Amino acid sequence: MPKHNADIAVIFEEIADLLEIQNANPFRIRAYRNAARVIGELPNEVSHLLEKGMDLTQLPGIGDDLAGKIKEIVTAGHCNLLDRLHTELPSAITELLKLPGLGPKRVKALYHDLDVQTLEQLHRAARDGRIRALPGFGEKIENNILQAIEVHANQAQRFKLAIAAQYAEALEKYLTATPGIVRVTVAGSYRRMRETVGDLDILVTTATTATAREVVRRFTRYDEVIEILSAGATRASVMLKCGLQVDLRVVREESYGAALHYFTGSKAHNIAIRVLAQKKGLKINEYGVFREGVRIAGESEAAVYAAVGLAYIPPELRENHGEIEIAKSGKLPQLIERSDLRGDLHAHTKATDGHNTLREMAQAGLAQGFEYLAITEHSRRLTVAHGLDTQQLLKQCDEIDQLNAELQGITLLKSIEVDILEDGSLDLPDSVLARLDLVVAAVHSSFNLSRTRQTERIIHAMQHPHFTLLAHPTGRLLQRRAPYDVDMLRIIREARQRGCFLELNAHPERLDLLDTQCRMAKEEGVLISINSDAHSIYDFANLRFGIGQARRGWLEKCDVLNTRTVQELRLLIDRTM
Ligand SMILES: [Zn+2]
Ligand SMILES: [Zn+2]
Repeated sequence: MPKHNADIAVIFEEIADLLEIQNANPFRIRAYRNAARVIGELPNEVSHLLEKGMDLTQLPGIGDDLAGKIKEIVTAGHCNLLDRLHTELPSAITELLKLPGLGPKRVKALYHDLDVQTLEQLHRAARDGRIRALPGFGEKIENNILQAIEVHANQAQRFKLAIAAQYAEALEKYLTATPGIVRVTVAGSYRRMRETVGDLDILVTTATTATAREVVRRFTRYDEVIEILSAGATRASVMLKCGLQVDLRVVREESYGAALHYFTGSKAHNIAIRVLAQKKGLKINEYGVFREGVRIAGESEAAVYAAVGLAYIPPELRENHGEIEIAKSGKLPQLIERSDLRGDLHAHTKATDGHNTLREMAQAGLAQGFEYLAITEHSRRLTVAHGLDTQQLLKQCDEIDQLNAELQGITLLKSIEVDILEDGSLDLPDSVLARLDLVVAAVHSSFNLSRTRQTERIIHAMQHPHFTLLAHPTGRLLQRRAPYDVDMLRIIREARQRGCFLELNAHPERLDLLDTQCRMAKEEGVLISINSDAHSIYDFANLRFGIGQARRGWLEKCDVLNTRTVQELRLLIDRTM
């Protein structure tokens, strides 16, 4: 039973959480968290690497013990250590950990101090007001917990885009191998690059009906399937072991465009298109576009749009957020593509919590086609990430100067991911910041300030003469931490006035700025930098998710800072002029 990287990452993350609840050695906990991240973000399936005989201890932070556990999971399909932890702790603890806002620290306190072992007990404790009294909780967190339980109760599980991508791509490859198959496309919110995905919709075209039956048969026999929900001649629904539902539709080649449009959604977009068609005396469904029963289009999406008098609308825009009106006038944006990026302005190395050296990061950046890469370690305040102090940063600047003298084709930019302190000051002295090519600044603490104070804090930081770029501007972690409360329009306008920039952090857990805020920045004329926040050479692969988010935010090449050449960039980030 081959396991995907995402499954292995989930197992290691859960081991780390459960060890933390058991008060295990912090280094041991950290090792599992690190392994979860490294494996979860590997662009190649670890099962394939093992098949090819790769020594997993070559991966950052993976020693013999962890390599053994990975092998165990891939070959046996489970991990003995996790099984043992499950018997040592109440089974509902894992469920509690999944509630947003309840990390292992809080679950540990709830479990040890209030003997909370299930969601029901948690709900009761919150309603009775017993949680607020625990150290580090308070009334606000108690209310958040109460809210999270209620949301949890009426919400099906959604998957982060990057996780869904691992399942989608594997299944796509598996189905493509069916003889007689013409195409396999994953439609739905996945194709629209939504940050989370509720289920997968797979569309297949085949040459014959016999092949259609074979595709359905093969699909239901996929070895990740735990339950077949339904299966017919041209459609089937299954549940994968990970809890992701997948719906398959097999259509004729002549209906491909109409079906793809239908199954890509969004619902709101499709309804608006159908209304438009009705006004023109046309009928649109998943089989085609019809006038008085005669099919006039359907083989391609472009033809479907053309039939209702519209230019082709890229999937990321299909939310009925004005795209249809703009398509009528033929003025749709020319959305940014991955190949437009010429550099990355946010990356870490071994000097703090990254895994690779400066040189390795530079070489990997070059392989990505970058002309420049900014090295942005954490600053001293972030002790968990071994943030740099003045001396260490100056030493790294010297190393970058030496390396730049030697490197061909890529320039390393001297930078820092400096903490914005609670009062809005920056965590390093001006004299040091002045030596850098650019200053990336970020909030990593005091997430719970009031809207006014949080906004003032960031605006104060932006007024600093060396401030260049606001990293992960809302601080949210998908499904784990809500955005902090800020007035983003005020921040964007301040950035415009000061000549600073905002980041779209492409890390699959962040995707921060949000799509609507990207569009807001574009309208206000503030450039966005799409950055990987790479902690290893593998993380540059995440840029594709940032590009997806940027496209959902209507961004074009000209709206993005790091599509500029290094000379153009230097002019834009030079704050001395
Ligand atoms: Zn950060
Ligand atoms: Zn970072």
